[in-house]
Amino acid sequence: MIPLIDLKAQYISIKPEIDSAIQGVLDTGSFILDKEVSGFEGEVAEYCGTRYAVGVGSGTDALYLALIACGVKDGDEVITTPFTFIATSEAISRCGAKPVFVDIDLETYNIDPSKIEERITSKTKAILPVHMYGQPCQMDEILRIANNYGLKVIEDCAQAMGAKYKGHTVGGISDAGCLSFFPGKVLGGYGDGGMVITNNEDISNKVRLLRAHGAKDKYFHPVLGINSRLDSLQAAILSVKLNHLDSWILERRSKANLYSMLLSDVGEIVVPSEKYYHVFGYYVLRVKGRARLQQYLLEEGIGTVIHYPISLHLQEAYKDLCYAKGSFPNSELAQEEVLSLPMYAELRDKQIEYICSKVRGFCEEY
Ligand SMILES: *Cc1c(COP(=O)(O)O)cnc(C)c1O
Repeated sequence: MIPLIDLKAQYISIKPEIDSAIQGVLDTGSFILDKEVSGFEGEVAEYCGTRYAVGVGSGTDALYLALIACGVKDGDEVITTPFTFIATSEAISRCGAKPVFVDIDLETYNIDPSKIEERITSKTKAILPVHMYGQPCQMDEILRIANNYGLKVIEDCAQAMGAKYKGHTVGGISDAGCLSFFPGKVLGGYGDGGMVITNNEDISNKVRLLRAHGAKDKYFHPVLGINSRLDSLQAAILSVKLNHLDSWILERRSKANLYSMLLSDVGEIVVPSEKYYHVFGYYVLRVKGRARLQQYLLEEGIGTVIHYPISLHLQEAYKDLCYAKGSFPNSELAQEEVLSLPMYAELRDKQIEYICSKVRGFCEEY
């Protein structure tokens, strides 16, 4: 079986380093917000080219805390894409704000900047673009609109750590960027974890305060916060992995390139485009008759996943927002046709050739 992602293969490739990092933390007996965490925050800030980085409990919490730190509150509206994981809009809703969706560009699966302006109202407070699958959004256009209307911009980089927009690493291009270290992400820990990166000292200070119960000094709480900290164990593991990230991204890019070379002439298939430096958090095709292809690949020992089968505006959890089917045709088309193929740095070229021959065989027969 070729799985969608193989976390064990990655572990085996760096086992001695990881084991000794974990042992090191166990030996110190210190597990919360110690030098492992502050050290790793510094490394991520340097990697992403931002002045500040604050480790938190998950990518979802990174989004929530960044939104709060940017002043998003009850009754506000935040513009985002309907074609993403629900954590994006969940974070907005958790602030008491309303997610306002804007359709995607089918070439990149990212929010279409030309459709943002018509959705801005007097309640709009921020824009939350998502760098889907690892491909940066059109940030110049988004930032220009935000500037004109005095809106904050928060980037959801959960799938795109290390991706670059015109030479700038994502997350540091706007007011704040949110990273996820969920195990299956481009940089994944062995459990949950996340980070807010920013060049804004005020946002950094606020997130730092809020992630630890709003405490400035221990047991003195100027504001109410939450408990959402990056564990020292995760920080130690992620710090080891960060040293390998650039080479893993190059591997991902080369696998993606091989896939696209072998599949681009198959009539039924749309391979991913690369507009800006893409890290291929997922390698995603579009194909008609997806269900049958997915079933066939499963029978041939190839694991695939649909990211994501229902756009957020059509989720039951958001029925109160009253979006009708057909509101966002591109997002709705994508939800019917996207299919993620196996993608991880350790995937072998021979395996990609096998996968592509199966995909091609199926498409040519049906
Ligand atoms: C994974 C993901 C998140 C949430 O990250 P967690 O660390 O799992 O909380 C948010 N947004 C997107 C686009 C994601 O893919």
